[in-house]
Amino acid sequence: MGCAEAVRVLQAYLDGETDEVTARRVVAHLDDCRDCGMEADLYREIKKSLARRERPDARAVERLRGFGESLLHTGPGDGGARISGG
Ligand SMILES: [Zn+2]
Repeated sequence: MGCAEAVRVLQAYLDGETDEVTARRVVAHLDDCRDCGMEADLYREIKKSLARRERPDARAVERLRGFGESLLHTGPGDGGARISGG
């Protein structure tokens, strides 16, 4: 699973709406990818705020938006991100 796919299913995963296979792939990616792991943490914070009917942290929302847009610009198979180690 790449970052674009992980981000696309991240919200559904946190809402418990993905199937087990997808959920496990997301977990594996979040474990592997620090960027997406941080995005997942941000989503959780925002969801918590919304659950309490508080306004989510504007900076967190802004960061998520920027991350999604950066993925759109790089696109898959563009030779951008390289995964080191293994
Ligand atoms: Zn990632």
